[in-house]
Amino acid sequence: MNKTHDASRDFTSADGRQFKVSYRRIHGKTPGPTLTLIAGQHGMEHIGPVMLKNLAHELTKTDFAGTVNICACANPLALEKDYEFYPEKEDISKIDDYFYSIFRHDYCIFGMERQKGVNLYNMNRLWNRSAIHGTAGAITDWLWQEIVSPANLTIDFHCLQAEKPLIFNWNSKNLPIAAAFGAEAIYPHRAVDEFNQGNLAFQACREPEKFAFCVEFSRQHGYKDEFEFGRQGVLNVMKTIGMLPGTVQLERDVYQVNEDVPWHKLESSAVGHIHYHVKQYDAVKQGDPVLSISSLENFEVLECLRAPVDGILGLLGKRPVSGTGAPLAHILECTRLATAGVPLEKFPLPA
Ligand SMILES: [Zn+2]
Repeated sequence: MNKTHDASRDFTSADGRQFKVSYRRIHGKTPGPTLTLIAGQHGMEHIGPVMLKNLAHELTKTDFAGTVNICACANPLALEKDYEFYPEKEDISKIDDYFYSIFRHDYCIFGMERQKGVNLYNMNRLWNRSAIHGTAGAITDWLWQEIVSPANLTIDFHCLQAEKPLIFNWNSKNLPIAAAFGAEAIYPHRAVDEFNQGNLAFQACREPEKFAFCVEFSRQHGYKDEFEFGRQGVLNVMKTIGMLPGTVQLERDVYQVNEDVPWHKLESSAVGHIHYHVKQYDAVKQGDPVLSISSLENFEVLECLRAPVDGILGLLGKRPVSGTGAPLAHILECTRLATAGVPLEKFPLPA
């Protein structure tokens, strides 16, 4: 058994809820880098928290070099409500009458949609700030000092609504480590303004020798069986940075979506069922058929959409029927970072 240290802090929200946030520090048997894993900042994203609680038990009994810090549930009140943030100064009871729909994904019952700008209840915009904003800000302030600031590498776990997991990355220096996690696509991300710069994975790799990225599982408001993917991803990263022995060999290629290149939208005005001919993140060549649209009124194929460039099939539309004007899919120009079956280079971090 490794030496472990469980730490908690008590918090009280503006509406009087008392609760704890906890993390576990696991010391490996030999010196090595410090890896920090955080999940559960957004309350509708539960796969990371469950995966990290299991992993905390496993790593307590695993021989490794260095130190692992795990905070599985950074935002317990938001997780309890299955809501993105805990709006401690609003009418919380509104959440109980609310039903999420994937077709109005960006809707917020408190009028704090992301496109409307600054929302200081959003925990993942409150990292490494000089001012503390609410209870969420008090939590990030504590976790930053305790487990993020001392880490060589921080991985932040979230969930999207997508077909497959992906990684968001704010700095190209992280790519050799992020590729080893095994998500098939790594999307470059920009912290477009001061508010968005409060993102954990942006802040945690600002110093030259610090690394960070964000893993997005692919189901919000529920579970999808991606626990083994997440577990294996962390173990792959630990091998890559020198905390576990062995080399990483992935079963699927990993691509970085090219920065500063627009996504090529596949659109159609024809109304019909969508038949995808390739899977998400499969490589396609210019001219390859990507999807076709079949009539709702007869057996005709109305249109076949082909890849306008070489790339991979990116994020898909949410609806089963075309003709709404929304893109049906995107072809992304990309760079292959890892090839299936070929051992990856190690990228050791200092002890
Ligand atoms: Zn999130």
